[in-house]
Amino acid sequence: MTVHLVGAGPGDPELLTVRALRLLETADVVVHDRLIDARIMDLIAPWAERIDVGKRPGGPADAQNRIHRVLVEAAGRADTVVRLKGGDPFVFGRGGEEAEALRAAGMGVEVVPGITSAIAGPASAGIPVTMRGHASGFTVVTGHEDPAADRLLDWEALARLGTTLVVLMGASRAAAIAERLLDAGMDTTTPVAAVQSATTDAQRTLRTTLADLADPELDLSVDAPAVLIIGTVAGLDLTGDLTGDQTGHPTGDETGLHRLVADLTR
Ligand code: SAH
Repeated sequence: MTVHLVGAGPGDPELLTVRALRLLETADVVVHDRLIDARIMDLIAPWAERIDVGKRPGGPADAQNRIHRVLVEAAGRADTVVRLKGGDPFVFGRGGEEAEALRAAGMGVEVVPGITSAIAGPASAGIPVTMRGHASGFTVVTGHEDPAADRLLDWEALARLGTTLVVLMGASRAAAIAERLLDAGMDTTTPVAAVQSATTDAQRTLRTTLADLADPELDLSVDAPAVLIIGTVAGLDLTGDLTGDQTGHPTGDETGLHRLVADLTR
């Protein structure tokens, strides 16, 4: 009995893998999170049983144990069980814990990687996470700093790395994160982009600087789910409207292509 731990990608069903789509169409049971895009849920066979494990009645540990029990129970009675998770199952998705629990219960596990929002978020706003002359790497961290749940991050080290910093689960703590990085010596003018609900109909991109994001008077609010991108690449928009538009993208000479051309000819 095998549970397929499937990444659903960031939202847009076009970004599902072929394997994920095949499994969704043939699964008998789909155990899913709350935030899976409705267009992806529509791809599940109508006869399949759907179990929403997104709601969390008890504490987080309790809820996670309940999910493990649901998965083991489903794997014991159904042929094809899909555990559907946003983005990639092993990127902040508790997929590791679920795989461990299933293995401990004697079940097989197949992991179907998904396109993580850590890459799709920036890409959907025209931001390359690495680029010659800008960043020779990118670092993905959680912004949800819960000492009980995660090891504390070394923000001083992150500020010094010089790679693009991609923060997941950081929407509600965006200003505090910016302040932390400024305290650690990161440049005030460092570009920041917050891509909210990437690849869904509600996608919105906020572009600012580290100093402005930290400024309590500006009180820039970032709505979850959002990916924060911090670093010079966050000032680029390589796929945006070249003439500027009403969506908050920079206009005229400020467009990504113009900036790119300016960068390349400098
Ligand atoms: N496994 C997921 C991440 C789970 S943690 C992945 O690989 O993408 C949940 C966080 O992912 C959210 O807080 C947010 O930071 C990010 N996220 C997921 N979907 C997103 C989307 N469509 N747009 C922006 N951020 C998203």
